[in-house]
Amino acid sequence: MVNELESFFSHNIKGMKRSAIREILKLTQRPEIISFAGGLPDPTLFPTTELAEVTAEVLKNEGTLALQYGTTEGDPLLRKLLVERYQKQGVNIQEKNLIITTASQQGLDLSAKIFINPNDTVICGLPSYLGALSAFVSYGANIEGVSLDEHGMRSDLLEAKILELREKGIHPKFIYTIPDFQNPTGISMPEWRRIEIIAIAEKYNIIILEDAPYREVRFAGIPQKTMLELDRSGRVIQLGTFSKVFVPGFRIGWVVANEEIIDKFVVAKQATDLCTPAFVQRISARFIEKGYLDKNIAVVTSAYKQKQEHFIKCLQEYMPKDVTWTTPDGGLFLFLTLPEYIDASEFFQTAIEQKVAFVPGTSFYCNGEGKNTMRLNFSFMNLEKNEEGIKRLAKAIALEITA
Ligand code: PMP
Repeated sequence: MVNELESFFSHNIKGMKRSAIREILKLTQRPEIISFAGGLPDPTLFPTTELAEVTAEVLKNEGTLALQYGTTEGDPLLRKLLVERYQKQGVNIQEKNLIITTASQQGLDLSAKIFINPNDTVICGLPSYLGALSAFVSYGANIEGVSLDEHGMRSDLLEAKILELREKGIHPKFIYTIPDFQNPTGISMPEWRRIEIIAIAEKYNIIILEDAPYREVRFAGIPQKTMLELDRSGRVIQLGTFSKVFVPGFRIGWVVANEEIIDKFVVAKQATDLCTPAFVQRISARFIEKGYLDKNIAVVTSAYKQKQEHFIKCLQEYMPKDVTWTTPDGGLFLFLTLPEYIDASEFFQTAIEQKVAFVPGTSFYCNGEGKNTMRLNFSFMNLEKNEEGIKRLAKAIALEITA
């Protein structure tokens, strides 16, 4: 046994807490509980047949390459195919602008590693993806929140926040944003709002970190240009991932940015894991080449469209009045708001007794707001389970409202 083990731990790790969501997920593993708490894609949609075919071919034809160490930048074929996908969408990037990461969570961690000194400031949406906040805090960042409206991060409040920080001599390192189907709210930014945010970032010379995991999980509305596309000054760093449109188990993502920034990602990643597994990268590349990725995106979006529509119908049917929710055009989540006097974290225990779970929204607010909100996932379970879960949740909320 090490004496005074606690004294050996770094300040960084002491400042890090277990994710509230992971703790909740543990609680919700019980089979009788219907859980809206996770953020998992529907596993019945994983393209196992196509993957079996492609995996066998990769092993047979290029196994020696695919099982070897790869370069830190990533599999050349996968990078080329991803760059071509961007170019087809009219985004003029080259391979030097893209590095493969071990999914986008590593993109978030490396971003913090590259830009954050202890006590640096980062601006995030209120609410925002908890995993990103944890990554930034683990490098000693202070998080400042800017509220959202139905169009995403409010640009007027963003500018006010930057000015407020300037008064204190603080210059934020970057603005973290999820413009498409934000986690946890499902809200998307229209193009005009993206342009406003970029203009502010330009005016005050701040980098934008655009996290885009749900970008291609759109089942309604019209695609809006990404921040990366709208950027004119090389200040947007975009994170992409296969987790929601292909398989999260492969842990493949990428970062797109100007060449100078990508060079820093290469150096930072080298020290972290040398390279993302070459095998899954090559399988993904051949999967794209065969047209299976586009097919899979169509399958996933149409299934989630059906689930979202059914979910909203059930909420309308079963939820007591005074409860409101977002209606996202894509992604995996929607955000529910209870009457102000109900604290969703306290209500969680009551919900568990009714055998239904969710993530209390306050976990996503860096300033402790959002007590009467919750995040619900609609992608993971089938329609029947979703309906039964909403019935249970509505019943539990109704008891709180009349109490
Ligand atoms: N960013 C956001 C906004 C997310 O919701 C998630 C996962 N839920 C991630 C990043 C991380 O995803 P992955 O590492 O699987 O790409």
